[in-house]
Amino acid sequence: MKKQLTIGVDVGGTNTVLGLIDREGNCLARTDFHTQRSTSEEGPVFFDEYMDLLYGAIDHLLAAAPEDCVVAGIGIGAPNAHYFKGAIINAANLTWKDRSKPSKEVLGDFEKQNRCEVVRLLKKHYPAVKAIAMTNDANAAALGELYYGGGKSLKKKDLVEITLGTGLGSGFVSNGDIVYGHNSFAGELGHIVVEPNGRSCGCGKCGCLESYCSATGIRRTALRLIDDTATPSVLRKIEREKLTAKDVSIATAAGDKLALEVWDITGHYLAIGVSTAVAITCPEAVFLFGGPTKAGDLLMNPLKKYLDKYMLPSMKDTKVMFSKLGEDAAILGASALALNAIAAQNK
Ligand SMILES: [Zn+2]
Repeated sequence: MKKQLTIGVDVGGTNTVLGLIDREGNCLARTDFHTQRSTSEEGPVFFDEYMDLLYGAIDHLLAAAPEDCVVAGIGIGAPNAHYFKGAIINAANLTWKDRSKPSKEVLGDFEKQNRCEVVRLLKKHYPAVKAIAMTNDANAAALGELYYGGGKSLKKKDLVEITLGTGLGSGFVSNGDIVYGHNSFAGELGHIVVEPNGRSCGCGKCGCLESYCSATGIRRTALRLIDDTATPSVLRKIEREKLTAKDVSIATAAGDKLALEVWDITGHYLAIGVSTAVAITCPEAVFLFGGPTKAGDLLMNPLKKYLDKYMLPSMKDTKVMFSKLGEDAAILGASALALNAIAAQNK
């Protein structure tokens, strides 16, 4: 019997990256292309142009598969991906247009949500591939963790993945499957309210976890402390617009008191989010992924201090740790989605 491989596709606002992945999570071949590249000189970028580029990239990886292997699944991780519809909906950074419409309107509005049906088109184009599925980036990262990362050593297939970046995403895995809810949008931990009447959030609400614990939120906390306190800090010397979460890490390593306070506030709010997630699905482990985790103990120590306070005593055996996924996390996550879809078909 031929060995099964999968193709993981990560659709980013700038680049689409693809990898040919084996069962152990090794990337045998990879390719990428510009997500919003038009074949005409100056755009606009049409969705069918994007699909043609995607077919070309997938064909390239199919041709790279060794003879004793078969590509059994394609998984796609994309912003605002609707798992049940296999479509990308209303993604702010993807502005493909529809060639069939005289107005060449931008795709992705909720009203026209079925237009970016990536999965339907791929299934039609690749009838021999057994399983094709799409989900959002955080759900893909959660499955990547389960199949290829820290989740491999867990006794039960129950984990929560929290991705810290420009925003804060999360994926809940319960009994080996992502919790999607009735409409595919379950697991939005970033938008639980951790501070009533708190900071404004991109979702339109106030006080969301994302507005405190994403990389952007950490930056906002630093700026607030700079404005509202007299604590001396090297961060005061950095131009406001250029200040990042990374600067806060560097300052903390040098013993900066204001920067330390930023991590304490971040750990406090993140502990509210983590303990809330744990109270709902009682996972074996919670994994933290993304840029701010590079701060290491600066983030983990205050988080654990507050978790001790907020976590239900019966759930304190849930481990909280950093992700074990490396640089290829996004394509491994998408590949894991394909593995998950294959497993579902074999049930
Ligand atoms: Zn929000």
